[in-house]
Amino acid sequence: MDTKKIKALGAKTADSPLDTLVIERRVLGVNDVEIDILYCGICHSDLHAVKNDWGNTNYPVVPGHEIVGRIKDVGKNVTKFKVGDLTGVGCIVDSCRNCDSCSHGFEQFCENGFTLVFDGPDKHLAGRTYGGFSESIVMDSNYVLKIPESLDLASAAPLLCGGITVYSPLKHWKAGPGKKVGIIGIGGLGHLAIKIARAMGAHVTVFTRSEDKLQDAKRLGAHDAVLSNDPEQMRKQSKYDLLIDTVSAKHEVNMFLDILNIDGSLVLVGLPNEPLEIGAFNVVNGRKSFSGSNIGGIAETQEMLDFFAEHKLAADVEVIKVDQVNEALDRLERGDVKYRFVIDMASLKN
Ligand code: NAP
Ligand code: ZN
Ligand code: ZN
Repeated sequence: MDTKKIKALGAKTADSPLDTLVIERRVLGVNDVEIDILYCGICHSDLHAVKNDWGNTNYPVVPGHEIVGRIKDVGKNVTKFKVGDLTGVGCIVDSCRNCDSCSHGFEQFCENGFTLVFDGPDKHLAGRTYGGFSESIVMDSNYVLKIPESLDLASAAPLLCGGITVYSPLKHWKAGPGKKVGIIGIGGLGHLAIKIARAMGAHVTVFTRSEDKLQDAKRLGAHDAVLSNDPEQMRKQSKYDLLIDTVSAKHEVNMFLDILNIDGSLVLVGLPNEPLEIGAFNVVNGRKSFSGSNIGGIAETQEMLDFFAEHKLAADVEVIKVDQVNEALDRLERGDVKYRFVIDMASLKN
């Protein structure tokens, strides 16, 4: 198959910094679009993958799954997009389209495995897929999102993974008026969860271990902020209907299960590389649920983007150039970002 060579940023091993690489993209198929990448967010999952935290990374890895770009070319069967349109791409670039999950819009749970935008098996070229830390991408137009005109492009990028990952469970577990919702961890996902839950009408409390984020929590839309490593403050908490746990490392969850209401749910979206310990008494008392959620389907991702436009919300971003990306990954590891790094991908062309 013919391919086109482009520039990307990738890691060759778990210990090497990201560096410029040349990768190949397939030529445009009839249902494909070619997207010139303008911005790409840095999610903690990119960092987990680069560092091989989950033990399953294939190198070289080109991360990036919070992509905003402009359509450069369209295949002859594509009607949804035209050259020049502003688009978004998240984690999912393909799926089987036939299974029960796909036919219900749950491509994230495709029974045959959806194709991840990076480090997934590439159906067209041999080898693995390469993500958004690159100049451009060629992919099936059915998995491409429309960026509403009113959204700022750099701050729309984190919505493509961070936004949908928290929007989906907040909607599924019915965050809204009369509901007491807690968000655990104020990072990329957590800060978006605060904004979404507030816009949905819930009473929102954030739990952070970082004292310097307490003030910010209210600016982001939380009604209350709790220092989760202060047992005195934790003892005063009770009767949460829903807790969204965005913590990226192994942590204590029983103290959060304890503050759920009867029939309350703690929903894990963070992906620590070690199992979490749950005490039986922490769930049986109060018929509590410990659950999880994984990104969201394509239609729901579009709904989330439209929700951000309708409610005039945006991610809080720090836009960086390509030569700052390794420093950004170090800072993300230390929790030193307010609240999402976004790479200006045009700087890769220079
Ligand atoms: P992030 O920006 O690094 O935020 C994670 C937050 O967790 C930190 O800001 C910190 O908040 C808290 N935290 C980190 N280490 C902690 C520790 N040891 N103990 C307690 N709290 C800690 O990361 P992110 O991009 O939001 O991603 C969060 C997690 O979700 C990652 O594991 C990522 O891989 C995963 N993820 C999952 C999905 C999915 O579909 N399920 C999608 C995207 C990302 P405070 O400073 O406020 O305490
Ligand atoms: Zn992500
Ligand atoms: Zn499927």
